Amino acid sequence: MTGTAPTSFPIVRHWIDGKPHDAVAERVGHVYDPATGEVSKQVAFASSSDVDRAVSAATAAFASWRHSSLAKRSKILFAFREIVSDRASELAGIVTSEHGKVLSDALGEVNRAIEVIEFACGIPQLLKGGFSEEVSNQVDVYSIRQPLGPVGIITPFNFPAMVPCWFFPIAIACGNSVVLKPSEKDPSASVWFAERWAEAGLPEGVFNVVHGDKVAVDRLLEHPGVKAISFVGSTPIARYVYENGTRSGKRVQALGGAKNHMVVLPDADLDLAADAAVNAGFGSAGERCMAISALVVVEPVADELVSKIKERMATLKVGDGRREVDMGPLVTEAHRDKVAGYLDAGVESGAELVVDGRGAAVDGAESGFWLGPSLFDHVGTDMSIYNDEIFGPVLSVVRVSTYEAALALVNDNPYGNGTAIFTNDGGAARRFQNEVEVGMVGINVPIPVPVSYYSFGGWKSSLFGDSHAHGTEGVHFYTRGKVVTSRWLDPSHGGINLGFPQSS
Ligand code: NAD
Repeated sequence: MTGTAPTSFPIVRHWIDGKPHDAVAERVGHVYDPATGEVSKQVAFASSSDVDRAVSAATAAFASWRHSSLAKRSKILFAFREIVSDRASELAGIVTSEHGKVLSDALGEVNRAIEVIEFACGIPQLLKGGFSEEVSNQVDVYSIRQPLGPVGIITPFNFPAMVPCWFFPIAIACGNSVVLKPSEKDPSASVWFAERWAEAGLPEGVFNVVHGDKVAVDRLLEHPGVKAISFVGSTPIARYVYENGTRSGKRVQALGGAKNHMVVLPDADLDLAADAAVNAGFGSAGERCMAISALVVVEPVADELVSKIKERMATLKVGDGRREVDMGPLVTEAHRDKVAGYLDAGVESGAELVVDGRGAAVDGAESGFWLGPSLFDHVGTDMSIYNDEIFGPVLSVVRVSTYEAALALVNDNPYGNGTAIFTNDGGAARRFQNEVEVGMVGINVPIPVPVSYYSFGGWKSSLFGDSHAHGTEGVHFYTRGKVVTSRWLDPSHGGINLGFPQSS
């Protein structure tokens, strides 16, 4: 929701050139506390000229930041890591208050964010190039990687701390400057990071935050001063960002939506599989891009597995994430209503609604954006609950009779973010990891989010571009390679030769 700024709510401001941008915003959005359903803050929405200001600050800062020594950069990164780590629970509280996920889950997200900062602390090692001596007479060749310039980072609502951290610590460590456009639904974590960067001694203008919507995103995509874009969000917007960003000559990585399948073979440990399905289906109210949404069960174990899942679901407590509960609210009322609409659609299309989350008891304010965990069985592949990314606490069981049929379902799906297989047969698991067309695979692990020194990213409609996030692919994305061929003359230099250079 947008409008002109009234004065009664605190305003989340842009952060430009090392300080909050205090000009009055022409447009603002509401930030809700999803557990109470009430507006808690307003967020300034950037105009094109606000984005231009942030890019100018980033451009000016880049001129000297790119020449800062690796020793200085890693010192600042280590300081930033210490500050974020000391105040991790404060950041988790901010995440819960705007996103709704339970505090322990928010802290888990923050810890995964810190792991990427730790990876970036190793930048001197990560930027080492190659060197070959004497490739020809008195000629040496070496490779170096250099930063790109100001880069734009655009992130979704579901991990307001972790997803921005997939990118900005590495971009900055590589010598770039950043303009971050976080989700307008939970913008405060990004500003919190900006304040911590300032405390860690990062020069002004290296890290900037602009808030808002399509206006800010479009300006970042077309601005000639922005050299690369990292995006995470839904598939239609990821495609749009990739097409428009590359059209204006930028390097783009755009991570999109998902529909993650968990395959359960008949020999699996069904208790382990039931725990995993519940954790991965309903953690963070299903608002994870790696959430399990479709449970593909190879018969004859579906009846037993469904009953184990149902038993476990009965123990889940839904409520305000600041209390002792398992699952919080959904992020907005509109999103909650959209997800609830899929429960009607599933019933209408003939699936069996084994657990209906609309009736869940809630430990929290009546007006929170609640929806309890829901389970469908006998889901068909023609149904919208199977085909759409629901992005809520709804798990669909699809029954198949063979491993081949299960694999075909995963591979026919347009998304390819994450998947998992549950089995005690090492050969079957190994075959699955080889044959499945998905970027991140779990073997008896339901949410296979790679650690920071590997790279995160899906296949097919879950990623547009060539580079995955963080790990060495992240370093590669935020740098350009250069190869230098050098010859320091000695008295025997060789005179004129118009032929193509060759080794001798
Ligand atoms: P979203 O696509 O609505 O928004 C993502 C970002 O794009 C936000 O910053 C938003 O302000 C901006 N945006 C929204 N509409 C836009 C438009 N028309 N033009 C330009 N910019 C626009 O996504 P969301 O609802 O915030 O997040 C949930 C989605 O993100 C899910 O689809 C989820 O699967 C996906 N996601 C993917 C990954 C991954 O790694 N692949 C990780 C997290 C989330």
